[in-house]
Amino acid sequence: ATCRSDYNSTLAARRRLYGPNTSLSYEQPLMIVRGSGTYLYDDQGVEYLDCVNNVSHVGHGNPEVASAICSQLHTLNTNSRYLHPGLPAYTEALLNTLNGRPAFPPPPAASAPPPEAPEPASPPPPAPARTSAASASAAIAPTTTTTTTTTAQAGPDLSVLYLVCSGSEANDLALRLVAASRPGATHVAVMGGAYHGHTAALIPLSPYKFWGRGGEGRAPHVHVVPCPDPYRGEHLDGAAAARAVLEAARRAGGRLGAFFGESLLSCGGQVVPPAAYMRDLYGVFRSEGVVLVADEVQCGFGRCGAAFWGFQALGVRPDIVTMGKPIGNGYPMAALATTRALADAFAAPGMEYFNTYGGSTAAVAAGLAVLRVLTQECLQQRAAAVGDYLLAGLQRLVAEHEVLGEARGLGLFVGLEVVADKASRRHAPVTARWIKERMKARRVLLSTDGPYDNVIKMKPPLVFGFREVDVLLSQLSEVMARELTAAVRSELLAQEEGHWAAVMAPRQAAYRDNERRLFAGGAVARL
Ligand code: PMP
Repeated sequence: ATCRSDYNSTLAARRRLYGPNTSLSYEQPLMIVRGSGTYLYDDQGVEYLDCVNNVSHVGHGNPEVASAICSQLHTLNTNSRYLHPGLPAYTEALLNTLNGRPAFPPPPAASAPPPEAPEPASPPPPAPARTSAASASAAIAPTTTTTTTTTAQAGPDLSVLYLVCSGSEANDLALRLVAASRPGATHVAVMGGAYHGHTAALIPLSPYKFWGRGGEGRAPHVHVVPCPDPYRGEHLDGAAAARAVLEAARRAGGRLGAFFGESLLSCGGQVVPPAAYMRDLYGVFRSEGVVLVADEVQCGFGRCGAAFWGFQALGVRPDIVTMGKPIGNGYPMAALATTRALADAFAAPGMEYFNTYGGSTAAVAAGLAVLRVLTQECLQQRAAAVGDYLLAGLQRLVAEHEVLGEARGLGLFVGLEVVADKASRRHAPVTARWIKERMKARRVLLSTDGPYDNVIKMKPPLVFGFREVDVLLSQLSEVMARELTAAVRSELLAQEEGHWAAVMAPRQAAYRDNERRLFAGGAVARL
């Protein structure tokens, strides 16, 4: 353990030397010096349960991934201009998952029935009573078992891969592919609350930023599809939403080239879109030739439990998939997968594609190790079982506490909606932040998000288990029952009003204006 003067000088140096708007968590930031599995340790040796870090997908400090990277660094780390057997091995494994096959299929000779997937360590918990959002998603079959295909699901394999270094780079590259295949169709549709990256091209595609603090508003070439809000019964007609943005692009004198959408929205507030909504949206866009980009940076790699990819859980087939965060368990790498036709259109003008670190030998070693660990430890199945157990427990807390409006999610992608009260369903960001801070004092790390910052996010490393769920639930239950007294609640409610007027009301006005514009002054689509 270091002494507190180290903490103070590190904090002071950070403030003095680093960009002042660089994101830092918590009122009193943590100095984390070690991680193991789903636990983090601060400079004093205090252990924290990490319920948010979806980058350390197979666990902080995973030894297999660390040693794969390390030994590759000792042997060779070059760019992808040389042939290396690691690259095709990794690419095939990753593309397998995107096309509904296991990453490492058994050799062809093994035509016997596949072995049963091993169960997670603890006994399966009772099935939870699902919320409307979760049940909509759970009721559908993954693409791998679908026999009839609709327009939303039809399409050639995702058979070509580009390796890049960050989620932002993957989405930026997606924009270039769209431009190559749909020249002149420069308008783009995105979901409300979406975040797609930090570059100059992607902030304008991220309502989370352009309608958030310091944002400059919507650019004329960007059209915002209102995010479905099953909890409040709003915007559940995907086909109407798609038609409205197509028309808005036309009215603005443009043509829609692409739709960028996270399969499950994370910064947008841990939203699981109803499967029918997404299929209808995809169906209308596809029939107009709009390129469908699924941003799986947050929700991919087995997190949803029901399928390896979010789009598979919803039963849709994108033309481009962008991936990042968990792909290298913290090694900076990301990827874009697409069809042969789109890749050929991108290559047609003759300009070479090169990315110094994308597809480097070490990145490929990291990615392959992550896929191996995911497969060997059956982490997708584990996410399904542990996620169900977590959701059931959260739903019990929702039933008991006035300010918990809804628990929703799929697998280990879970959100808890904090509201002023159950009747109004008014967003309560101050209360959400207070819960997050109280949980930190109890050594449980959570975050808040959503367009109104009132959703408590849970997206832990997939090694999170039943024991960790029990700790999370019991600490949350204590905060709600013992610390959120009537006096505290009324104090928080008073703060909510001022905060809403100053920060959230302008944001809500931007979303409402957009809805009026899209639906020509007509009623907001409600259930
Ligand atoms: N897409 C989504 C959905 C994301 O959540 C993020 C990062 N939060 C990005 C893209 C950008 O990824 P990166 O930070 O690796 O550039």
